[in-house]
Amino acid sequence: MTAVVATNQTILVVGGGISGMTAALEAAECGKDVVLVEKNPSLGGRVSQLYKYFPKLCHPTCGLEINLRRLRGNKRIRVLTLAEVGAISGKPGDYTATVKIKPRYVNENCTACGDCGNAVSAEIPNAFNYNLNKTKAAYLPHPMAYPQRFVLDPSIIGTPDAEKAKAACKVDAIDLNMKEEVLNLKVGAVVWATGWKPYDAAKIQPYGYDRYPNVITSVEFERMLDQRGPTGGKLIRPSDGKEAKNVAFIQCAGSRDRNHLKHCSRICCMASLKQSTYVREKFGDDSQVSIYYIDIRAIDRFEDFYKKVQADPKVKFIKSKVANITQDNASGDPILHGVDTEGYHRYDNRHDLVVLAIGMEPSVDAKSIGAGVAADASGFIDINATEAAVFGAGCASNALDVNRSVQNATAAALRAIQVVNRVARAEG
Ligand SMILES: Cc1cc2nc3c(=O)[nH]c(=O)nc-3n(C[C@H](O)[C@H](O)[C@H](O)COP(=O)(O)OP(=O)(O)OC[C@H]3O[C@@H](n4cnc5c(N)ncnc54)[C@H](O)[C@@H]3O)c2cc1C
Ligand code: SF4
Ligand code: SF4
Repeated sequence: MTAVVATNQTILVVGGGISGMTAALEAAECGKDVVLVEKNPSLGGRVSQLYKYFPKLCHPTCGLEINLRRLRGNKRIRVLTLAEVGAISGKPGDYTATVKIKPRYVNENCTACGDCGNAVSAEIPNAFNYNLNKTKAAYLPHPMAYPQRFVLDPSIIGTPDAEKAKAACKVDAIDLNMKEEVLNLKVGAVVWATGWKPYDAAKIQPYGYDRYPNVITSVEFERMLDQRGPTGGKLIRPSDGKEAKNVAFIQCAGSRDRNHLKHCSRICCMASLKQSTYVREKFGDDSQVSIYYIDIRAIDRFEDFYKKVQADPKVKFIKSKVANITQDNASGDPILHGVDTEGYHRYDNRHDLVVLAIGMEPSVDAKSIGAGVAADASGFIDINATEAAVFGAGCASNALDVNRSVQNATAAALRAIQVVNRVARAEG
């Protein structure tokens, strides 16, 4: 049974992405007790799945590693992984959160040696790579995973593979009797940092994501470039493995559209500008990038990044909302159809690969949280309308870049600290 000590002076942080980790660290470093709950097997959220991040184009490991070092050294933070918070009830200073913890089937003895992974034969879709490839059913979520501990997929429990994994482990780390647990945590304040998910691209029917293999999403593109990703870092197209040198980016894919997400997802212009540099670095003068856009939203200091990409003669900006995509079945090339609004001429443009700059929506609809949490029209937490001590942080409150998520999470931590300090004063 998982033992967690929590009181109404404890802060619960839901979601272990960059925002949740930041909020947990800021609160714990101010002397508060924190329980950090993450539904995946490791912390890091979607930032850990990026290849590089703007504006500096460094690898996400830099920022995450600093946070993990702070986390490892802080005894006030209790981390629960494979743990999902459903609804919350109560009032400021007195909340109850129901946490469902899935079994990992691997205990803290694990040294991440990998022997169990080598012993099993079953494979499962690799969620870290957006299911673009497979991983063994005994796996480490990704090389930087925290905790550095393997996971046994529930699908092999009760099969010979599970016994093979157990037999391969020399440190007695595999426990096939682990069961799902439900904890009811009493806490004083909550930071809700459950982040975002990519909009379902298959719903944008004219773009054929569900029909054409060479139409992919921006999140999949990030994984393709990573050396530890599904293509080993090769920029090749899914249909035939041909190098993708002529790449189109379609902006506002699912965003700013009354049939899909009404809001602007804010990040996808910068994401495509960043991803255009991946193509240019990979193939130099042999490459061509085309960005189909309504308008480019690169705010504040990102304007300089935009200007730099704009100055590249191999990056073409086409002001147009692409009407639809067809496929040349002989070559597998996607063909984009629409009207260029600067000049008003029709185009039928052929590319090797199309990347949909997919919209961001909240991973949990704020309406479902309970405890008086208010949602805006898109399902993000409306921090101005919420009176509960459940403070939205990062992309749970809006589509934000990492820098703004971190600032926002720090503010949420401060608000949560004020609530538990009031509880402490009242209790004398
Ligand atoms: C294509 C693309 C590229 C991007 N590139 C950049 C970039 O280069 N630079 C940049 O600054 N930003 C970039 N971003 C934005 C960046 O991904 C976000 O700013 C960042 O992920 C926000 O972190 P977060 O912690 O708020 O959310 P997330 O990263 O989504 O983390 C939320 C966490 O909460 C967990 N969770 C969800 N529900 C529950 C629950 N009920 N219980 C427990 N845990 C839960 C999730 O598993 C996840 O780990 C990009 C976005 C896109 C779409
Ligand atoms: S569970 Fe055992 S065999 Fe598997 S990685 Fe951990 S220590 Fe190695
Ligand atoms: S950030 Fe750019 S691509 Fe994304 S929705 Fe807004 S305008 Fe469209």
